[in-house]
Amino acid sequence: MKKVHNFNAGPCILPQEAIDASIEALKDFAGTGMSVITVSHRSKEWEAIMDECRSLWRELLDIPEDYEVLFLGGGASTQFLMVAMNLLETKAAYLETGVWAKKAIKEAKAFGEVEIVASSADKTFNYIPKDFTIPADADYFHITTNNTIYGTELHEDLDSPIPVVADMSSDIMSRPVDVKKYGIIYGGAQKNVGPGGVTFVIVRKDLLGKVSRHLPSMIDYNTHIKDGSMFNTPPVFPVYVMNETLKWVKRNGGVAAMQKRNQEKAAILYDEIDRNKMFVGTAAKEDRSLMNVCFVMAEEYKDKEADFMALAKERNMVGIKGHRSVGGFRASIYNAMPKESVQALVDCMQEFEKLNA
Ligand SMILES: *Cc1c(COP(=O)(O)O)cnc(C)c1O
Repeated sequence: MKKVHNFNAGPCILPQEAIDASIEALKDFAGTGMSVITVSHRSKEWEAIMDECRSLWRELLDIPEDYEVLFLGGGASTQFLMVAMNLLETKAAYLETGVWAKKAIKEAKAFGEVEIVASSADKTFNYIPKDFTIPADADYFHITTNNTIYGTELHEDLDSPIPVVADMSSDIMSRPVDVKKYGIIYGGAQKNVGPGGVTFVIVRKDLLGKVSRHLPSMIDYNTHIKDGSMFNTPPVFPVYVMNETLKWVKRNGGVAAMQKRNQEKAAILYDEIDRNKMFVGTAAKEDRSLMNVCFVMAEEYKDKEADFMALAKERNMVGIKGHRSVGGFRASIYNAMPKESVQALVDCMQEFEKLNA
């Protein structure tokens, strides 16, 4: 197989061990003589995978008893409306930190008043707003902890007078999280914990069942809690890969060890961006993401962007083009990204500097 450095933003790199184990299960699942995608989701072998996966979530993030862990379909984008339908009675507060936050806001507006507490739209979302007051009279406060497109990340768990709902699609399992500071944590698996197709939701149970609107069964979190995320057929293969990915996280020391590795990897790349006169980081330094590293060509080398892309391609770098809405470059360096690949990108940037500057 061709060896590449996979900096894709999502779907993206996953641990090779998780992929290999999943390939085996595609061929023969748990000694059943059947593929994991052909067994019944009501079989005891499959139930065991669901149980193991839920336990791993609980163990790795130290999730308290009064929270439930759900595996659903529909992606994070469906959570934008499910959160609002389940929790929004009169007013919700949102922090506007990027395109994903804006999409969450748009969905919530269909179900009640939305107060945008602060926004970084004035500077193309290149920072996280700091000076804001969370309104105590709102039903919840929604944040996006890592802004995948802009490379900004909220590095702390906020204190809030109302339940915090967090889209953690692109930084879940990258660091320890104080789950009890949140009402709901959700995200698409495809950035750090699995392939596309499964969505994780961690929800504090006492928040549910309070809104006056009718909730269709599929929209009601209580439906999925009651049926152990099997009200409808779960996305079995994505869940299987997610389970193997979490086993890999555990074998490699858990989320505290992930955080340490992620800090080291990000530092290697940000140090080079700050040192190399051809490149400039776009995110405010204190808000720099450990997952998505965004940078552009320095003003005087603006015409060299295509040349750098070409060199990077030649050196087997994949996926470093910035999101179409911001341009430049973005290197996504999720949990599974080895330090060697980050170093290879740094080497490539240094080589480019020698050739051009
Ligand atoms: C990718 C992403 C989404 C969208 O996820 P889907 O599962 O494709 O709906 C939402 N929020 C953030 C922060 C993301 O990075």
